[in-house]
Amino acid sequence: MEMPTKGRAWDTVKTDLINRGGNDAKWRDGKTAVYVFNAGEDIAAVQKEAYTAYMSENGLGPAAFPSLAQMEKDVIAMALGLLHGPEGATGAMTSGGTDSITMAIKAARDHARAEGRAQEKANVVLPQSAHLAFDKACHLMDIEVRRIPLRDDGSYEADVPAMEAACDADTIMMVGSAPNFPHGIIDPIAELGEAAERKGAWLHVDACVGGYFAPFARMNGVPVPPFDFAVPAVQSMSADLHKYGYAAKGASTVLFRSEARYQHMPFDFSCWSGAPMTTPTLAGTRPGGAIAAAWAVMNYLGVDGYRRLQGEVCATRERVEEGVKALGFEILGNPLLGLIAFAHPDHHALALYGEIYRRGWFTSVTIEPPSLHLMLSPKHSEFIDAYLEDLADSVKAVAAGDDAKAAEKVEARYS
Ligand SMILES: *Cc1c(COP(=O)(O)O)cnc(C)c1O
Repeated sequence: MEMPTKGRAWDTVKTDLINRGGNDAKWRDGKTAVYVFNAGEDIAAVQKEAYTAYMSENGLGPAAFPSLAQMEKDVIAMALGLLHGPEGATGAMTSGGTDSITMAIKAARDHARAEGRAQEKANVVLPQSAHLAFDKACHLMDIEVRRIPLRDDGSYEADVPAMEAACDADTIMMVGSAPNFPHGIIDPIAELGEAAERKGAWLHVDACVGGYFAPFARMNGVPVPPFDFAVPAVQSMSADLHKYGYAAKGASTVLFRSEARYQHMPFDFSCWSGAPMTTPTLAGTRPGGAIAAAWAVMNYLGVDGYRRLQGEVCATRERVEEGVKALGFEILGNPLLGLIAFAHPDHHALALYGEIYRRGWFTSVTIEPPSLHLMLSPKHSEFIDAYLEDLADSVKAVAAGDDAKAAEKVEARYS
């Protein structure tokens, strides 16, 4: 597209804009189980109104917008209240999980350097299931990533002794996920904490997808193991509001056990022509809308609202477990929250993925081992029976056809 010389009237631009979504994944019809968290129209309305109310304001200027500064403080206080933040714990809002993880690694590295460690080189030790955001951040900061294979007992949990053995004097961080994305499994954070203490390592818990889910699941009686600041060695956490916090996109939190750890995150600079500036996170300009929408949704839902929604998601996951087992699938590990992956002993996951995709479902796949993957939303309670019916048809289609060919086709699309 070339920029039009003369601007067009908004109503025609708007029509064009809306029409462009015609070929997008049908998330409003519950047909996606990745990328979008659909918690219903009332929450969408709160997001939109709150976002637009502060859309022009900028979180970069806390003095100009004390409203946003206070909302961010409130959000962090609510987060720390849910995640057992001790007295003195603190944090900041960021644009997303990748941003939160990047900033936690930066703080851990600068903390290690301040202690006289990892001066020349640094490494991060994490389980193979940890999110690729760690690799992106380490690539940016020239830090080595040591990915350690998971336990081979079918639990899909981090292998803590192997991770401990991989640590050395230059290890600035050990990582556990709560839960990981590929399998939806919570790593043994308490055991990781003991290893981190023995090694003197900074333990980060990536609760991007579980930080605003697991506390409420636990309140509902789900046996969630200790995964947050209740484990004494946990120094930092990432938890995304734009996932199961049901906030508008562009909202995550990065949390620290103490001010002493947090202080390595902000960037303070005065050696340029402009005014001195301090920024807590990677961003300069910070969208006020994302802060306001997160604050508003948290206040709109409250503990009861989140408990209800996460309870619905857990119930949907249980229906999926039952339904896919009846079709011969095996569930990977023991998922407790909203993510689930499952593999069929007779049919390749990518072949099944191709069939379910052809039936209008936009879901995800896990590669190790090849399996189908769902990240469920509250809204899926209305659509899960239709999904299971289409999955049954997909299994039949794959069983009737040539598995290998179908898998090759999907693989070609992925590469
Ligand atoms: C989504 C996710 C991330 C990355 O978050 P973004 O907001 O997509 O940058 C990191 N870790 C886990 C476990 C996630 O699910």
